[in-house]
Amino acid sequence: MTTLLLRVDSARAEQWRQSMQDLLPELNCRLWTDVTPPDCSAELAAVWSPPAGGLAKLKRLKAVFSIGAGVDHVLKDPDYPQTVPLFKTIAPELSQRMVEYVLLHTLRYHRRLPELAAQQARGEWQILLSPLAHERTVGVLGLGHLGVQVAFALRDFGFNVQAWSRSQKQHKGIECFAGAQQLKAFLANCEILICLLPLTPNTRTILNAELFAALPQGAYIINVARGEHLVEEDLLLALEQNLAGATLDVFVTEPLPSKHPFWQHPNITITPHIASMIDPLVGSPVLAGNIRRFLANEPLSELRVDVHRGY
Ligand code: NAP
Repeated sequence: MTTLLLRVDSARAEQWRQSMQDLLPELNCRLWTDVTPPDCSAELAAVWSPPAGGLAKLKRLKAVFSIGAGVDHVLKDPDYPQTVPLFKTIAPELSQRMVEYVLLHTLRYHRRLPELAAQQARGEWQILLSPLAHERTVGVLGLGHLGVQVAFALRDFGFNVQAWSRSQKQHKGIECFAGAQQLKAFLANCEILICLLPLTPNTRTILNAELFAALPQGAYIINVARGEHLVEEDLLLALEQNLAGATLDVFVTEPLPSKHPFWQHPNITITPHIASMIDPLVGSPVLAGNIRRFLANEPLSELRVDVHRGY
């Protein structure tokens, strides 16, 4: 019987295992936790942030499935067995969650809610006007599985949308920029900038002082990708200069330490990595479907990660 190892956060581990076992009765679904070492004869692994060197011990491994769209939590392991195919998990439900989150915070900034909330706290009645959506330029960094859905939703809502990716794209109603040489031109008009890049050696720390300085006065940042995209001290300085605010769902250290200066900053909104959370209810049928397709030798090419490129 083929063994599937599951490495997930401990709070929901048994829920994941039970749900995967119910969906894949032909497999032996086993947990791999900090206290339960992995079954080294396993052929399949579905993981979130496995410990370094752990996957390399599984000598019969045929495929690794990331429990989530990001794969940096797997590829950060220097001993990742490079020849074993790695697949990400994507689903319309996960894109929908990300779209909801980004629309919510974009509209919050667009309709000046932080300023209105500050006025309310002061008991102040003052009319603050906003431009119409088509007069507001929103930029999306990364046009991958999630970025493209977010860009379409913002465009369909009426915003003036720009996007930036590594290779040149063409999408109706979206001004597309590509490559390092077009980054400054892309940033120059972004009033609200959304980061949906994968975390790779090329994108780590991309949200830095130089990038912030290239944004217009009063711009907002929404980072829903990875904490390591952001240089935290550069953001704090930029908020004293041209940036008006930031919404952060992801952090270098999660949970965000209680003494971290972001918690008390009046212009930073914090959420605990929930923009597009994958839970067993939504995630396990998708993951089980992908595993079945892999076992049936279907290509799964849209989910296959280029481990050298890092996404
Ligand atoms: P993805 O499909 O891997 O995104 C790839 C996109 O990024 C492509 O458009 C690619 O360009 C572009 N890109 C990669 N490297 C680049 C570079 N050096 N310069 C310019 N563009 C570059 O990623 P995804 O699945 O949409 O996920 C996006 C992010 O969301 C990831 O960081 C993921 O970890 C994060 N995430 C967060 C949550 C949450 O709850 N907060 C949930 C899920 C995912 P090409 O098209 O030209 O290759």
